[in-house]
Amino acid sequence: MDVSAILDPLNDEQREATSAPPGNILVLAGAGSGKTRVLVHRIAWLIQVENVSAYGILAVTFTNKAAQEMRQRTESLLGIPAAGMWVGTFHGICHRLLRQHWQEAGLPQSFQILDSQDQQRMIKRILKSLELDESKWPAKQALWFINGRKEEGVRAEHIPDNGDPVNRQLVRIYSAYQQTCMRLGVVDFAELLLRTLEILRDNEQLLTHYQNRFRHLLVDEFQDTNTIQYALLRLLAGKHGSTFAVGDDDQSIYGWRGARIENIQQFSKDFANTQIVRLEQNYRSSGNILNAANALIDNNQGRLGKNLWTNSGNGALLDLYAAYNEQDEARFVADRIQQWVNEGGKRTEVAVLYRSNAQSRIFEETFIAATIPYRVYGGLRFFERAEIKDALGYLRLCVNRNDDASFERVVNQPPRGIGERTVELIRQHANAHSVSYWQAATACIETQQLSSRAATMVGGFLELIEKLTKNILDLQLYEQIDQLLHISGLLDHHRNDKSEKAQSRKENLEELVSAARAYEHNTEDELSPLEAFLAHAALEAGDGQADAWEDCVQMMTLHSAKGLEFKLVFLCGLEEGLFPHQMSVEEPGRMEEERRLCYVGITRAEQQLVLSYAESRRLYGKENYSMPSRFIGELPRDLLQEIRPQIMVKQSVPATFQASHASPEDFNGIDIGRRVLHTKFGEGVVLNCEGRGSHARVQVNFESAGSKWLVLAYANLQPL
Ligand code: ATP
Ligand code: MG
Repeated sequence: MDVSAILDPLNDEQREATSAPPGNILVLAGAGSGKTRVLVHRIAWLIQVENVSAYGILAVTFTNKAAQEMRQRTESLLGIPAAGMWVGTFHGICHRLLRQHWQEAGLPQSFQILDSQDQQRMIKRILKSLELDESKWPAKQALWFINGRKEEGVRAEHIPDNGDPVNRQLVRIYSAYQQTCMRLGVVDFAELLLRTLEILRDNEQLLTHYQNRFRHLLVDEFQDTNTIQYALLRLLAGKHGSTFAVGDDDQSIYGWRGARIENIQQFSKDFANTQIVRLEQNYRSSGNILNAANALIDNNQGRLGKNLWTNSGNGALLDLYAAYNEQDEARFVADRIQQWVNEGGKRTEVAVLYRSNAQSRIFEETFIAATIPYRVYGGLRFFERAEIKDALGYLRLCVNRNDDASFERVVNQPPRGIGERTVELIRQHANAHSVSYWQAATACIETQQLSSRAATMVGGFLELIEKLTKNILDLQLYEQIDQLLHISGLLDHHRNDKSEKAQSRKENLEELVSAARAYEHNTEDELSPLEAFLAHAALEAGDGQADAWEDCVQMMTLHSAKGLEFKLVFLCGLEEGLFPHQMSVEEPGRMEEERRLCYVGITRAEQQLVLSYAESRRLYGKENYSMPSRFIGELPRDLLQEIRPQIMVKQSVPATFQASHASPEDFNGIDIGRRVLHTKFGEGVVLNCEGRGSHARVQVNFESAGSKWLVLAYANLQPL
């Protein structure tokens, strides 16, 4: 038998793991050391050499895209289709099992999956039926509680009464929620996993069937499995199964969603005779990139520890760009991408990575302007996000009362007690009389076609829009949007919710204010700034994004970049408070997870890594002056090449400047050594000055805030 196709492309340790006799194996290795490659080769080995049927293999990956790739790579190694093999995410696999065993699971054959929005809506209805006041019992809190318990494998009836009234009430909601789900035949995401675990655990026949079938379990990205996923693996493996897990403790980045890094240490205790294989050679990145990653992660405590090396040479230094602001950062990235393409590189080889979804907007706009095709992964583009569309819906309605789509979208968003039945009545009236929903709503109230409660609610909504329109009439565009977010209740709606998702929605809404502030209205056109901005948003949502097959730049959050690799990687927004994220600065323990996320980002790069931060950034509607991220400081200086924009530096010229009104010519009138006052940072002394025009900036040593570079045009410095 010729196994050279399977073994030849591997090094000794990889070969050892791939060709080990069936049994439990844990491959514990750093980024880019070939874990995923080994897992694929292991599958091929099992099928070809150990004569395992593809039907007996269950492989778990982190995304559907990775699952597809795994199947393709296995089949091309084998030269035949691996029919019958199950490859998928934990959720996908559990869904498949429940579809096949709906009866055992006590579900209707056509059970539906609830996404988190549906889930929340259902909880709201339950709160009402339990006569609980939503202001005291926010639906989001209940949702968080329920999902959290489910992810730990805990049902409402298992939660002991500890006498705490809050806990007691949440358990009551959980219990009622679950009953409703069962009655309606729907399951949420966490339920997919829990229900599967339960039917396997409680149904011996079924469990034996699957234990006999899936004798070989393989798991990629094992460090990010949660309690229930781990329990499922143990159950399926039973006494006779072989589990092959590959992972990297340094890349565990989903702790906030219940992943348990401890599962790695636990593995060899729970899975008999585990053979641990370590891979140390990195095949992905150049020496400089790898050394930077190693140095960074060395700042974490309690690591399992590993020593990654490469023999691919040092390669280029890491570039570090100190941008003036977020626009300068985006322009710089766009220029570098153009340069890459001019030198013969492909756009698909380039990734722009960021910590927070809201950062994508400025890159999207810059890429569109520079005609660089791009694709945003694992998240919607800015103007397509639900919360942004809600906000725009209000604005559209202010501009045009007859915009029915917007009326429908926001009439009960945030929820104000206008039910589907009322909206249906309005729709029917509109259709029957060929008028807009707005007109129909007005008519329905006048002719008392709505119940008095519904009439009050709908009337309130109409008034709200009228009031909004009046209030924002004379304001600047960004103030109009800011007002809208407050008056409509949209911001509060997301603010009251403490979940990560709501946090990001709120941030996106605030980012919309930034977008408006930065939006340059072309005064030649006929539209009002608001109308022009709405048109701009519609166009950007429409066709900015490249088609999947087009050669385009890849944009994604660091979380979605896990497992992937690119020749040129931009790691953007390396600022304290943004990355590491403010939430982790405040919460000890999370900082290490942020550092692992940075490690994941750095190790995506094969040839070139460009780091950037902005000295001032308008994000979430506010102007921020942040320190460069601590992670930059943790990288060895000799690996970094600092890039400053082409600037003219002139020093010691007469002190005649008025900072806030500085024109390009008189800017250089700044005196080094002069005392200045800043509204936020207080008094300080000018240490340095650089640049011209809108790029003009000064370095000031503030008494309390330390030394900072400020963009003169925004800094509003008062000479003292
Ligand atoms: P991550 O931790 O980021 O998921 P990984 O450990 O799964 O990384 P892979 O993605 O499997 O690493 O491999 C990284 C890169 O190195 C891939 O391009 C892979 O094809 C290549 N590679 C792995 N092993 C070898 C080898 N023995 N010879 C040549 N290239 C290899
Ligand atoms: Mg991998």
